[in-house]
Amino acid sequence: MTDSNSIDETVNEVKLTEYQKKFVELAFKYAKEALAKLEVPVGCIFVYNENIIAEGRNEVNETRNATRHAEMVCIDQVINYCNDRKLDYKQVFKDLVERLS
Ligand SMILES: [Zn+2]
Repeated sequence: MTDSNSIDETVNEVKLTEYQKKFVELAFKYAKEALAKLEVPVGCIFVYNENIIAEGRNEVNETRNATRHAEMVCIDQVINYCNDRKLDYKQVFKDLVERLS
């Protein structure tokens, strides 16, 4: 996960569709952003009904908050998404697709 070649190789190995590849690349973009900010390089995307409903990266050092992992940042966004739309978060979490890089 150090350069753009390695993600292309990984994507080819697991034979992702172009559709899936788009999301993995976006998560990878957030991972690179985290690295540039001297964080552990993790990016995260949550997809629900084919829409990105959460996206983020590791923010632990920046916020000095050990819970601010990329996936936790995204989980908070999903909860807000559900609250705004009066959706049952348990159902949404069951149906969403996670992409971590
Ligand atoms: Zn984590």
